[in-house]
Amino acid sequence: MIGGGQAGLAAGYYLRRAGLDFVILDAATEPGGAWQHYWESLRLFSPAMYSSLPGWPMPPQAGAQYPDAQHVAAYLAAYEKRYELPVQRPVWVAGVKRSAEGFTVHSDAGAWSAAAVVLATGSWQRPFVPTVPGRRTFTGRQLHTYGYRRASDFAGQRVTVVGGGNSGAQIAADLAAVAETRWVTRRPPHFLPDDIDGRALFGLATQRVRASADGHHHAGVASLGDIVATGPVRAARDSGLLAAHPVFARLGADGPVWADGSTWDCDAIIWCTGFRPDLAALRPLGLRQSRGRIPTDGTRALEEPRLHLLGYGDWTGPASATLIGVGRTARTAVQQIADLIRTPHA
Ligand code: FAD
Repeated sequence: MIGGGQAGLAAGYYLRRAGLDFVILDAATEPGGAWQHYWESLRLFSPAMYSSLPGWPMPPQAGAQYPDAQHVAAYLAAYEKRYELPVQRPVWVAGVKRSAEGFTVHSDAGAWSAAAVVLATGSWQRPFVPTVPGRRTFTGRQLHTYGYRRASDFAGQRVTVVGGGNSGAQIAADLAAVAETRWVTRRPPHFLPDDIDGRALFGLATQRVRASADGHHHAGVASLGDIVATGPVRAARDSGLLAAHPVFARLGADGPVWADGSTWDCDAIIWCTGFRPDLAALRPLGLRQSRGRIPTDGTRALEEPRLHLLGYGDWTGPASATLIGVGRTARTAVQQIADLIRTPHA
C-alpha cells in the first residue's frame, strides 16, 4: 500500500480482515493524510457519522455538527491505532517496478517486494492551475487552495478567488468578511438546496452504483460537483458577498482583464482549481495514461491486474474521494487482491 491517508487506511482495514500480509508506506511524518493541511476554518460537508471509514464511526466533534479538518486528522490517527495498521512513515516511495514476485517498491527507506500494490497517494501534492495568458505578468501574490490557511492573512486586501467548486465557494466565503473579494467561476455556480448537505452527494453516488450495476444511467437531482451550502457559504451568499463573475480572458500586471476590456486590480489571486492524481510512483511501469489517468476497471489497472488505484474520485469508484465513499471501493479492491493472490498462477 502506498499512501496512509483515508484511502490507504480503509484498504488497510479490509486487508487486515482478509488476513493478508501488508504494509502501508506513507511519506508524511504524521497521520491524517491531506486533512493535516487544509485551511483553518474548513468544515466537513457532512456530519461526523456520515464521514466515517469502515468499522468505526467518526466520533462527533463537541459543539460542531460539521467537524473541522483537525478533528478528521485526529480520527484517522486514532483509526490506524485502533486497527493496528502497519503504517511506516515517513517513507517516500520513489517508484514501483515489475519483478518476478509481482513488484518491487523502491523507497527512501529501502525496497519492498509485493505480490500486489495499491496506490493511494491522493492528489494533494499535485495542485492544478490552468494556463491563463499573462499569468506571470501579474505582480501580486498567487497561491492555490494548497497554500491557503486563513482569511486574516488577506485582511484589507482585494482578492480574486478562481473556481466554482466547493473549495472556491468556501474560500471566497471565508474571505468575504475581511477582504474585498471577487469570485470568478467558469460556469454559474450551482448550490445544493440549503437543507441538503454532503450526504446527498454520497446518496447520489450510491444510486449511480446501483443504476450502473443494473445497466442503467442515473442522472439524479444533484451533481457531485455541486456546492454544499455550509453555514458560512450560505451567510456570504445571502449577504450578496458571493456573487460569481465570469472567468477573465487574461491577467495583467495589476489583475484580471475580461474579454470586454474591463479590469479589476487586486493584491492576490487564489486558484481553487483543483488537483490531479499523484501517480508519479508508477512512472517506471510505463503504463498508458489518458488525460492524466491510468485506465482502470473499478480500481484495478487494466494493463496491470495486480495494481489498484484507490481514492482518486469517481474515476476509481463513485465518491471514492470521500471518507464515507472510499470504504466501498477499498472493500472491492481488497477482495480482488485476495482472490488473485490465493489463486495460483493468476
Ligand atoms: P491523502 O489524504 O492525500 O493521503 C495520501 C497520502 O499518501 C498522504 O499521507 C501522502 O503523504 C502519501 N503519499 C503521497 N505520495 C506518496 C509516495 N510517493 N510515497 C509514500 N506516500 C505517499 N472529503 C469528505 O469526505 N468530506 C469533506 O467534507 C471533504 N472536504 C474536502 C475539502 C477540500 C478543500 C478538499 C481538497 C477535499 C475534501 N474532501 C472531503 C476530500 C478528501 O479530503 C480527499 O479526497 C482525501 O483526503 C483523499 O484521501 P487519500 O487517502 O486518497 O489521499
